[in-house]
Amino acid sequence: MTFVNYNKGQDMKPSTTRTPDSELSQFRVKGEIPVPALINGLTAAAVPLLLFFSWRSMQQGDSVTAPFLIGFAVLLAINSLSFLFVGHKTFHRRVFITLITALFTYLATQAVEDGSAIIWLFAYPPIIFYISEARVGIYACLGGWLAVLVLFSPIGDALFASPYNATFRLVMIIVLAFVMVTCYILDQSRRRSKLGLIKLAKEFEYAAKHDALTGLANRREGLEQLDNEYQRYLRSGRGFSVLLMDIDLFKSVNDTYGHQAGDEMIVLVARTLASQCRKVDTIARWGGEEFLILLPETSLADAYASAERIRQAVSSQTITVDGKVIRATISIGVATIQGSESIDRLLQRSDEALYQAKSEGRNRTCQASVAA
Ligand code: GH3
Ligand code: MG
Ligand code: MG
Repeated sequence: MTFVNYNKGQDMKPSTTRTPDSELSQFRVKGEIPVPALINGLTAAAVPLLLFFSWRSMQQGDSVTAPFLIGFAVLLAINSLSFLFVGHKTFHRRVFITLITALFTYLATQAVEDGSAIIWLFAYPPIIFYISEARVGIYACLGGWLAVLVLFSPIGDALFASPYNATFRLVMIIVLAFVMVTCYILDQSRRRSKLGLIKLAKEFEYAAKHDALTGLANRREGLEQLDNEYQRYLRSGRGFSVLLMDIDLFKSVNDTYGHQAGDEMIVLVARTLASQCRKVDTIARWGGEEFLILLPETSLADAYASAERIRQAVSSQTITVDGKVIRATISIGVATIQGSESIDRLLQRSDEALYQAKSEGRNRTCQASVAA
């Protein structure tokens, strides 16, 4: 899966405790601009703009505005620089939101650039919706819109020297509401598309790792887990065992009762294996009616005991086809990793043990010979 990146340790199962929004932030769809990068990019654009407008205000003989704009530029720059050193995403985002909210409030209330700076407010909704959760975006936009409403009311006129005429006020309030609602709708669409992609990625990942009939790990995933365990063994010396098992005389089940009954038997065996294993074990459908169980940190004696328990559990289960009760039995080859042997060699030894179990009459467990 390449189009969605999972954070390390991310649980693939959807969580009921997380909100869709907070779950969204755990994933990054390929091509999507990360929030910290957007904040830093906006800061890089805002700092020279703020410095330019502070220079302009000084040219116009306004000595009050320039220090404020320079102050915002410095604080924004410090926020981005501290993120680059410390890497605290939430703090970076919260400080940025606070600063731009304060900046836009200042631009609107102080009628910077003869009052024209208030149109920078239109940049606020798309930024706020992109960098924060939808809920925060709604509150920030609603708060901003109400603040403009107050600013344009007699209260605002009493508090600030507003240069805005009645037509501008009306149009500004309507267009700002229009832009905010549009940004909200587009942002919802973006979030839903992202959730859809994440769901699809999870389904693909599940399908790539699991067997469709039984829901067990497929051979590829089994090999992957085997390789992981092998690497752990090489590092720590903690051994592991494998059980290679095969349903006995399965072809005759198919031939006598039909393929459907055969499938039912495979599912029954898979369920029995799952019920008999620990959480740390990996159960894989290795082939048609073959299964492989990986038992981490398990000695040969313990693996043999587990195999026998599993074998007996399988032979106690039955399926009923056309009123006839059919019982499945399995043969098992057990092998434990030894010395510096390879995974291939381990699997070969377990296969030989399985073959021995078959040739000794089936429905039995055999231990692999010691590695040469
Ligand atoms: P043995 O005890 O020696 O293992 O005999 P067997 O009959 O089990 O072995 P064999 O390898 O001859 O037969 C395996 C059969 O499993 C052949 C194949 O058609 C069948 N099979 C493989 N995959 C599936 C499947 O997904 N569903 C069903 N119903 N049958 C399958
Ligand atoms: Mg077979
Ligand atoms: Mg078989």
